[in-house]
Amino acid sequence: MLIRTLAAATILSLGLGALAAVPASAVVPSDPHVRESAYSYADVPASPKKAKKNTKTLVIMAYAKKKDSTTPALLKKVYFDQVDRWMRWQSAGRQGEKGTVTKWLKVSSSTRCTDQEQYMTRAIAAAKSAGYKPGKYQRIALYFPLCKQLFWAGLGTMGRAGDHDMRLWINGTPEPAVIAHESLHNYGLIHSAAIDCGKLSLPKKTSGCSVSEYGDLFDVMGFAGVEMSASAKLEVGWLSKKQSATIRKGSKTFTVVANDSSSTKLKVVRVDLGRGSYLDVEYRTGVGSKDPIDRDGVLVRVVRPHSDFDHYARTLVDVQPNNESTYSSLPAGQSWTSPGKARVSVISTDAGKAVVSVTMKAPAAGVPAIPAPPAVSAAPPENRNLPASGVAWLPSVSGNGMPVLEYDLQLVNAAGVVTTTTVDALGGALLSAGVGDLDYGSYQVRYRARNEIGTGAYSPLSVPLVVAEPLPVVAFVNVENQTVVAPFTWAQAVATVSPSAAGYEISRVYFTFIGPNGPIGTCEAINTSVSIYQFQCSSDYDASYLEPGNYLLKVDVLDSFSHAGTRTVAFTVAEP
Ligand SMILES: [Zn+2]
Repeated sequence: MLIRTLAAATILSLGLGALAAVPASAVVPSDPHVRESAYSYADVPASPKKAKKNTKTLVIMAYAKKKDSTTPALLKKVYFDQVDRWMRWQSAGRQGEKGTVTKWLKVSSSTRCTDQEQYMTRAIAAAKSAGYKPGKYQRIALYFPLCKQLFWAGLGTMGRAGDHDMRLWINGTPEPAVIAHESLHNYGLIHSAAIDCGKLSLPKKTSGCSVSEYGDLFDVMGFAGVEMSASAKLEVGWLSKKQSATIRKGSKTFTVVANDSSSTKLKVVRVDLGRGSYLDVEYRTGVGSKDPIDRDGVLVRVVRPHSDFDHYARTLVDVQPNNESTYSSLPAGQSWTSPGKARVSVISTDAGKAVVSVTMKAPAAGVPAIPAPPAVSAAPPENRNLPASGVAWLPSVSGNGMPVLEYDLQLVNAAGVVTTTTVDALGGALLSAGVGDLDYGSYQVRYRARNEIGTGAYSPLSVPLVVAEPLPVVAFVNVENQTVVAPFTWAQAVATVSPSAAGYEISRVYFTFIGPNGPIGTCEAINTSVSIYQFQCSSDYDASYLEPGNYLLKVDVLDSFSHAGTRTVAFTVAEP
């Protein structure tokens, strides 16, 4: 939401000189920073230890009727410890924040909190009366108790780092994110926006798209709390010359280091679109949450001169527009093509760097290619009481210039029945597709891919995937095809039983002795050695002698998930 509360004329009357033509803007106090970040202001890296340049700020704490509970000590900690540390970290030691916080100063009770100009003028006068020297500071920040009629948390004039007469207002919200955001307005940054074009990432004609002024989820000038894009760092002069590279024609491969790393290597590739416009390409590492936007990937922003502000407007592009509300990065293996046919392809990513190739005047993007048959395996059942519950497969298909958004996965059973499941690409990682609980049997799998241009053709069918029932395995220790010597009791026959799968337990084992004239009897065998699942009839059956002759011994086994195994072997009891 854009709130331009200070009109140019208002600023002029404050005497801000050359900066006056530039309106300021505000953040929304209710929830200006919606996303969690990998860092908080309390634990951003404390390096570099010193800044080359510090902006000197006088924070005036003023009230017209009643103070709030914020103390000078708290504001000092937030601005000159937390925000200072954050600035040093983001600027790689180029910018720091130093200054003074006044004690609470009373201004006339007639001061209207909705009139920032009046409040500021009176606060500066009160500070002078109290012995402070506002003229010695580059920035005056006014902190005042929450004014509920205002719907911003902070306000800052637009300028450039090093300018004097920067002004900043904090509406009862002593949060580092608010102060950092407004301070960056002072340094010349406007908001970091995002563009939403529904099912398309960035069409040639953007008349149907909506732009959210604060929409960039990865920048403190948008909706991020702590992160700052490399694109914004470049604009404010916080990257060195070798940390950005520009491509104007041909094709080139770049290695881009992660934006939040302390590396001094390349962080932004600028794709020159002409007329002062660029695509800014940077590598952002995920922060480990389950949110799909937090995967490792390459962010693409359109940067163009902003007519109102004479500054650049940064607008994040949703390169995977399959999700209505989520702005995505471009994962390894995927490409994105701009309306002007500049193609950004992510060759690889790891935690430290991304290899990105950019091709100008690339061929037009098309529907995804026809994939090779997938390599498939039955996923282990989550509930061991059920048969295999899904198919694991590794998709590999060219998106033909646009990222793959979805796959259609088809499962064809032995009877030819086809089940189709649509799977979100989520970057094309190893996927386990739920296709219902698979019955035991044989299946073939094929898939096709979809990008924002359309749907490609199906791959050929995979080799058959056999989902076999896991059965316990029985082996005999001392009777199989052997001759034993009488006297031989039931309890002397021993069998070992192997569970059908790891983690399954053998629950019941029965021995059935069958003589020349049919079954003689059955015992439930007992486990005599847990570690190797060795079973025999209990000693109660020692009295059950087998007369000399030819016998069959049948063993029936049930495991804890009712998988049944059975085996029958012959043996002979010989005269002693
Ligand atoms: Zn703002």
